[in-house]
Order: sequence, then C-alpha cells, then structure tokens
Amino acid sequence: MIVVMQKDATEDQISHMIERVEGLGLKAHVIRGTERTVIAAIGEKREEDKSALESGMGVSEVVPILAPYKVASRELKPEPTKVSVGSFTMGAGTLGVVAGPCSVENEEQLMSTARVVKKAGATALRGGAFKPRTSPYSFQGLKEEGLKLLAAAREETGLAVVTEVLSTDDVDLVASYADVLQIGARNMQNYRLLEAVGNISNPVILKRGPSAAMDELLLAAEYILNEGNPNVILCERGIRTFESHTRFTLPLASVTYLHNKTHLPVMIDPSHGTGHAYMVADMAAAAVAVGADALMIEVHPNPEVALSDGYQSLNFQQFSDLMTRCYKIASAIDVTMEKGELVV
Ligand code: PEP
Ligand code: MN
Repeated sequence: MIVVMQKDATEDQISHMIERVEGLGLKAHVIRGTERTVIAAIGEKREEDKSALESGMGVSEVVPILAPYKVASRELKPEPTKVSVGSFTMGAGTLGVVAGPCSVENEEQLMSTARVVKKAGATALRGGAFKPRTSPYSFQGLKEEGLKLLAAAREETGLAVVTEVLSTDDVDLVASYADVLQIGARNMQNYRLLEAVGNISNPVILKRGPSAAMDELLLAAEYILNEGNPNVILCERGIRTFESHTRFTLPLASVTYLHNKTHLPVMIDPSHGTGHAYMVADMAAAAVAVGADALMIEVHPNPEVALSDGYQSLNFQQFSDLMTRCYKIASAIDVTMEKGELVV
C-alpha cells in the first residue's frame, strides 16, 4: 500500500504515520517527491490496515500498489530517479556513458583506454576485475590488482569507476575501490548478493539475466531497494533466444516498457547485446533515440588481442565515431550528454 500524505503534511504527521505503518508490522519506505511525500507500507496486505492508516492526520489517501514489485514501481514514485556519483550522472534527461574494456588486463591497456574514452565524452570507466567466465579455463580477471588499476585510472582521469562484484565475500573490497558496482547477468537472481549490495551506498548496475522476464528483473531490483539502497540502474544486455546471428537478442522495447513500469533509470549494453563490434554503434544510436538513460560500451586499444569479449569491443576510432553520432541524436531529443572531442 502507499500512504499518500497531503501536500501540506507536517514532519510530525509524516513521522507519526511511519510509526503507525511499522506498528502494523509493515516496513515503511519513505519517498519525498517534489509535490508530496508518500510512505510505502511493504508487507502482507490486510484490508483492516488500509482503513486504519486512512484515518491518520495529514493522510490524503491510501492506495494499493498493484505491481508485484513495490519500491521499484512507478505507482510509488512517478518521478524518474537520477543516479549521480562523481563524474557519472544518468536518468531524468541526462545520458550517462560507461565505456572501457571487458576485463582490466594491464596498466597500459586500462590507462590508454581511460584517457581516450574520457576525451570522447564517456562519463564512467568500466573494466572487469572479477570476471564471470563460462569456462573455468578462461581469464578470470586480475582481482584486487585490477581494482587498484581502476582506482589509479580514476585518479588520473576523474572518471567514476564501474566494476562487477561476483560474490558476497567481495562486496566490501570492491566497494572500497569502485564508485558503481555491477551485478552481472549471471548473478541477477543471486538474492544474497542483491541484499549485500542493498546494504552499501554505492549505486548498483543490475544486468538482466539472459533468460529473465521483466518482472523478474524488477523483483531482483526490489531486493536491493528494499535493503535501503535507492540507486539501482537496470541494464538490458540482451536475452537468450533461438536466434543465432547475434550473441544475444537485444530488445530495445525494454526501455519503453521499463520507463512505463519503474522510476529506475535504464541502461543499454549493445556490446553484450549483439556480440559483434560492427553492430554496436547502430544499437547504441537506437538506444539513445528510444530514450535510454545510459549506455555501456566495451572498448579496447586492440580488440583483436583482448583477453575477453574482443569480438564485440570497439577500438578507439570506432568508439569516438559512436559518441559523435549519439551526441547528435541526444541533442535532437533534448537529452543532456557530455560533448566529447574527436579522437585519433
Ligand atoms: C560484462 O559486463 O563484461 C559482463 C560479463 O556482462 P554480462 O553480465 O551482461 O554478461
Ligand atoms: Mn564483457
């Protein structure tokens, strides 16, 4: 249920209603909008609770949340959520661009990429230090050494750092180096990991599982939000279908659907979504046109020799061209985007 407070409700009335909600054995989740404050009362729905809350001082109305996810729903919070950390801002009309290698491989590879993506207009640097690989024999990442290189790249370029956390054991370590934690597609339904990142203050990029339905993605986000971390970014990175001309199938309609159902910002990852470097710029441009709040693009100084995902990584020139094209589209639809310089 949502307890909608009156526009002129006092702080005392709001605190009182939070106590009333908790007194009924429900969890109170407060959202202070520009117009009014609402209190989500999360827990098992009982008809008598609704009438008990309706009579509270300063209460405008008590309405049920119909969606299975509650805190993530637009019913609770109609205004879009903007996520901001360091150089990285996205949502509510601002496009964020996260770019960098699939894996952090060495200092030269990461630093050269960081400098170029920054110049081209990216607002955050990505790079995997803990890598979820299909085969245990593939490169697993540099682990803490990779995190140190990412922190050094932030130091030099000012770019916020995005990196994946694979296990609950590593959450504190990764959060001590990175600005934004990524939950990979394979871990979208690792509920203990979701709760763990719900208990830190870093924003979280939650990638859609390759066979997860939209409601499952939103319920996974709910696990993080429910623990008190409001900064969740949903990332469409493609799903598994019968189609084999792309690595995954990238549904851009997810942007429109999610914007309709949730206030959380939506990121598109055309690199994993297509699995082919030649398709990435077209899909990135389309994602901007459809209103995505952020892009995630894999970039490598020499994709041919990348230790992971080289076939879908852009070289510096290709990334710079993508950014020029996306900037034109963003400007045409009044979306704010960092204007980079042409590289190479
Ligand atoms: C990645 O971002 O490099 C990655 C492993 O992505 P996903 O979890 O979407 O496969
Ligand atoms: Mn990758």
